[in-house]
Amino acid sequence: MRQPELLAPAGDLEKLEAALAYGADAVYLGGDHFGLRALASNFSLPQLKQAKDLVHAAGKKIYLTLNASLRPAELAALNGYLEELRPLELDAYIVADPGVFATVRRVDPAREIHLSTQVNTTNGASAEFWRAAGGKRVNLARELSLEEIRAVRATTTAEIEVFVHGAQCVAYSGRCLLSAALVDRSANSGLCAQSCRWRYALMEEKRPGQYLSIEEDSRGSYIMNSRDLCLVDYLPQLVEAGVDSFKIEGRMKGRYYVAAVTRVYRAALDCYLADPEGYRCDPVWRQELEKISHRPYGNGFLTEAQDAQVHSGDSIYRRSYDFVGVVLSLGENGRGLVEGRNRFFPGEDLELIGPGMRQVTFPVGSMASEKEQPLTVAQPNARILMQLPPGSQPGDLLRRQVASPD
Ligand code: SF4
Repeated sequence: MRQPELLAPAGDLEKLEAALAYGADAVYLGGDHFGLRALASNFSLPQLKQAKDLVHAAGKKIYLTLNASLRPAELAALNGYLEELRPLELDAYIVADPGVFATVRRVDPAREIHLSTQVNTTNGASAEFWRAAGGKRVNLARELSLEEIRAVRATTTAEIEVFVHGAQCVAYSGRCLLSAALVDRSANSGLCAQSCRWRYALMEEKRPGQYLSIEEDSRGSYIMNSRDLCLVDYLPQLVEAGVDSFKIEGRMKGRYYVAAVTRVYRAALDCYLADPEGYRCDPVWRQELEKISHRPYGNGFLTEAQDAQVHSGDSIYRRSYDFVGVVLSLGENGRGLVEGRNRFFPGEDLELIGPGMRQVTFPVGSMASEKEQPLTVAQPNARILMQLPPGSQPGDLLRRQVASPD
């Protein structure tokens, strides 16, 4: 059976390491030029080299986003950047602007090009257009149903990538001017302020300052909200539809998010590929995804044109667990060195999670600083010596339950 790729975001080096350790086959990241997600801590050239070395040493792939729409002066500067990038031999560039596409083809013709979701590829003829022009892969628009993905697959030999998890836009695959219009932060430069999720009210022009609430139900209005996408239950159908790469959204998300989402999709994909006939969706996968900060989940447009589902529900984040620490190293007798990310205390229960769906709840015992000074609280960024459960590994993450998952 074909082995589709699991593609995870890498907002910085730490998240990249998490993505690799928790099961990604490939990562995507931004350089410090021309990629969307301007607020993500993007990679400089030396950092890209370091990232490439790490990824290739793990036998995986690395894709660089160059998916902004460029203005004339920016396009002129692209040549030089591509020249600097070329020796790094990254596996592919993710591109949206046809001008960027043509420039990459000219300056670095050996480089694989993937068409970004911003290109809004919705049919096989579009995919073939990009393939004939030299593109290797297209990320299909999130608006397509499963049936339509199958139809695209039947009419193109380009590789097909789809988003399976993460935030969605109410606008057509990110082509949105709302944030640019309201706060001069362009979504197409990666600076979206998520204005669609703000709270809006109605005001009559002769009564300034009198805000009338818009109520769809007792909690308010959700006229521009979208749910988060979660397609873990549909991986078999997507594999059978011929999807080559499953992409997780979220270069702005934290290390815990990247690790926890990637390991669930890794487990589900491996389970299906090992035994397609005997495959059953494990309820733990969905439970684990509920433990990550998210808006209400939905299937997007996959099963049919479910506009009502995409636009309904509120956009308040559900957060049932706090990420409190990362295991840096293990010493003798299960004593480990942990870097704190949130406060935690002796006596409380934490959960340790690791790659391969490894997880265990344990009570925090006594804690000490690296200089063996006793600690009554673990602070963010502090290094803490503490007893960890058997089987713990460097790179494992610690979390604390703060509310019931949905
Ligand atoms: S304002 Fe909302 S719909 Fe528009 S680009 Fe930002 S997240 Fe997407």
